[in-house]
Amino acid sequence: MIEILKPTDLPRARAAGALVADILRTLRSRSTVGTNLLELDRWTGDMIADAGARSCYVDYAPSFGSGPFGHYVCTAVNDAVLHAMPHDYALADGDLLTLDLAVSLDGIAADSAISFIVGEARPAESVAMIEATERALSAGIAAAGPGARVGDLSHAIGTVLRGAGYWVNTEFGGHGIGSTMHQDPHVPNNGRPGRGYRLRPGLLLALEPWVMDDTAHLVTDADGWTLRSATGCRTAHSEHTIAITDDGAEILTLPK
Ligand code: MG
Ligand code: MG
Repeated sequence: MIEILKPTDLPRARAAGALVADILRTLRSRSTVGTNLLELDRWTGDMIADAGARSCYVDYAPSFGSGPFGHYVCTAVNDAVLHAMPHDYALADGDLLTLDLAVSLDGIAADSAISFIVGEARPAESVAMIEATERALSAGIAAAGPGARVGDLSHAIGTVLRGAGYWVNTEFGGHGIGSTMHQDPHVPNNGRPGRGYRLRPGLLLALEPWVMDDTAHLVTDADGWTLRSATGCRTAHSEHTIAITDDGAEILTLPK
């Protein structure tokens, strides 16, 4: 199902996006050397509750996971990339951390992910990988607007990622979002322009380029959720929720 919001729904979508951005900004500021992933998860749950919002993750039990997720935020360290379950781990200097968060506020969900490096270290390959996903996300957003097709966004994202020298896995990618977190259309991180669903005002999309340094293949942890690079290489991921408007696209999850 592809959900098209009414113009009167947009303020609620903006509020949901602002909340996700605000929580991620707070989590980033608290992600210092020694912070435990389980603390980040607990703080996230507290902030969601304080805002009167609802976690999209806690009870989430899709076909690709192993039972309800049971946590509030995905915390992917180094070689973990997607659906990363928080576990008892204290962040170390130079860790590449991705926080991925989806929250529903007043019946509308927003979804965003940020990658950054913890502490003082600045591993060049990690910085380059993060920047590539950020550029790809910007390119995908720039290609979005009424009349554009999903393939135009996929092509824009994939061109940046491939141009930066990364393999692109198209199994997991962007998606429609609205009253639920994951909806059609799927927005692969690579594709052919001019193909696929034609975007309309009122459509919300989560765009989420992600890459792994030297492989396109994933392995699943024993927790049944966490996906890691098959080679143990580092990974990065950037995601925003956008609303298609009459004249372009509005980013709902930009930090203030
Ligand atoms: Mg996400
Ligand atoms: Mg998403």
